[in-house]
Amino acid sequence: MNTLSSGGGPSLAERLAAIDERVADAARRAGRESEHITRIVVTKFHPASLVHDLAALGVRDVAENRQQELTAKRAELADDATLAGVRWHFVGQAQTNKGRQIRAAADAVHSVDRARLVTALDAAAPGSDPVLDVLLQVNLTDDPGRGGVVPDELEALAEQVAAASTLRLRGIMAVAPLEEEPRRAFARVGALSARLRTVVPDAGWISAGMTADFEDAIAEGATHLRIGSAITGNRPLHG
Ligand SMILES: *Cc1c(COP(=O)(O)O)cnc(C)c1O
Repeated sequence: MNTLSSGGGPSLAERLAAIDERVADAARRAGRESEHITRIVVTKFHPASLVHDLAALGVRDVAENRQQELTAKRAELADDATLAGVRWHFVGQAQTNKGRQIRAAADAVHSVDRARLVTALDAAAPGSDPVLDVLLQVNLTDDPGRGGVVPDELEALAEQVAAASTLRLRGIMAVAPLEEEPRRAFARVGALSARLRTVVPDAGWISAGMTADFEDAIAEGATHLRIGSAITGNRPLHG
């Protein structure tokens, strides 16, 4: 797949610029500085070459939602100098038996949602490893099957991360529920972020907002946007 231009449609550079313009506009409307908002490009299901193309356009934050794909892309791009300084964010369901692989491939993990995972990620740190940035994913739905810690358990999980010497708690992550108006859901995330900061005062990152709802997330204080298809184009079918 040619990711630089697709027939007569907008190029990757044009889509990226259009999203950045919308981010800047939404920040202005919210009275916020867009320098305080990190636009992460979600590259899942796309080939590693897309990450190269994005990095060549100046993108410095990319995200994957499956550990195997993250590990494979990092390995494939290990010698690519264009990627110097690129940070890889892991935003998917994390398995406790993959702690070592996740630590080896991710610079930040947004999807920490249970005590066993905190223990596993902490235990997986090799001696020389830098501290791993983590965010607590909160479940905004009533369905316990969805990813994320229930809000009532947020502070206890934050205390556990704060006590883990190889992890650094950075903030909170959430996905807006399908059945709720996103702006209302993101307002709740803002309140939960304030609660998190009573435990770890500088854990101020708010990872919220995707293609469909990032402007609402900016209005409610998001600091890290996870934007995929609006920039990358439709994801190739996976098989
Ligand atoms: C895929 C994904 C995104 C990006 O979704 P788009 O709708 O393509 O912007 C954001 N966050 C998570 C956790 C994802 O899995």
